[in-house]
Amino acid sequence: MKLHWKILIGMVLGVAFGFLMNQMGQKEFVSDWVKPFGTIFINVLKMIAMPLILASIITGLADLKDFSKISKMGGKTIAYYLCSTAIAVSFGLLLANIVNPGSFVNDGARTTLLETFSGDATVKIEAAQAARETSPLQPLVDMVPDNLFFAMTNNGSMLQVIFFAILFGIALILIPEEKSKGVTAFFSGLNDVVLKIIDIIMFTAPLGVFSLLAALIVEIPDASLLSGLVVYAITVAVGLLLMLFLFYPTLLYLFARIGPVRFFKAMMPAQLLAFSTSSSAATLPVTMERATEHLGVDDDAASFVLPLGATINMDGTALYQAVAAIFIAQVMNIDLTISEQLMIIVTATLASIGSAAVPGAGMVMLVIVLAQAGIPEAGLALIFAIDRPLDMLRTVINISSDTTAAVIIASGEGLMKDPSTLDPYAEDILS
Ligand code: ASP
Repeated sequence: MKLHWKILIGMVLGVAFGFLMNQMGQKEFVSDWVKPFGTIFINVLKMIAMPLILASIITGLADLKDFSKISKMGGKTIAYYLCSTAIAVSFGLLLANIVNPGSFVNDGARTTLLETFSGDATVKIEAAQAARETSPLQPLVDMVPDNLFFAMTNNGSMLQVIFFAILFGIALILIPEEKSKGVTAFFSGLNDVVLKIIDIIMFTAPLGVFSLLAALIVEIPDASLLSGLVVYAITVAVGLLLMLFLFYPTLLYLFARIGPVRFFKAMMPAQLLAFSTSSSAATLPVTMERATEHLGVDDDAASFVLPLGATINMDGTALYQAVAAIFIAQVMNIDLTISEQLMIIVTATLASIGSAAVPGAGMVMLVIVLAQAGIPEAGLALIFAIDRPLDMLRTVINISSDTTAAVIIASGEGLMKDPSTLDPYAEDILS
């Protein structure tokens, strides 16, 4: 059976098991005995992310051998990321204005939501405080580690490790080949080992997603709180799904002549994992493995475009931030002018870049979008109850956008593998 079917079955069984345990009043059993397996699964994925980034970027750059090619690819990657994110935000704004989801929340629901989740909202608002008090150039400063080994021990410092790996890869190209040979061979071997470890981890993915989803279901908040949020949630979901099924497939076909079936067949396990973990960073190893070994993006392009994308390119998060900001403004009876809405395109694009690739990070950075637009930050409490499922979906969009970029850039540089050379048994851990 194909891996994505196994993962899907794990997800469905996890949801069913979660509901059953809920009915039987056994929430604690799930938290104590099932959830830990989900946590182990996420940990093991995160564990492999740093070695993968280091090995794959260094190997990719060393293989490219050509400095001008690297800078050209870098420029294209950043341009794609900025454009696709700005398009996603604009699309979100358009949808929120057409649907007007705020008009579906009555005064009673608004008061209940604000009261129930004000504590949770305060935690997020405080988390955003640090980002707000710094210089606008702080993200640039944060990219450069002052201690490489410290950065490598902190999953939040992925961008710093990417920075070092790029520098290392470039230096490797610049030294004589007889000296670089051994180092390149070492990282190339390490890269293969890491990819094999990912295959082994994915072998346990069905169990991992089962545990994650079962744990999620028993933690769902009271359904009565969700009724006013249905239209808002549908607006976000429709926007995200249109990006996934219309926008990216169109780009892939136009720029790389890759059809949706090939794309989804290759990427589905990574997308299902993004959905189950709500973390682009935890999904990154699988995104890279699927993009290179199943979709056919050459390692040289994928190794550079995907880790960068996982940390800074978040179309799904940006679209969600736009809809959420407009929704909160609507519920709080705040009229936003056209120019204020246009400013949201800029702030949500930047806020999504600044969002960490972990669950719930998009909501922290939403605080900054709200503040810029003059919308009370306490309004964050309104969307709390429904945030997790939307986070799951936006993470799928985030990694799909990264992969689309990798394909388009690789195809522009002639770095797509011939599909007939791809190994259909690549997901078999013994192959
Ligand atoms: N969970 C998202 C990701 O990892 C970020 C977010 O929107 O919260 O891509």
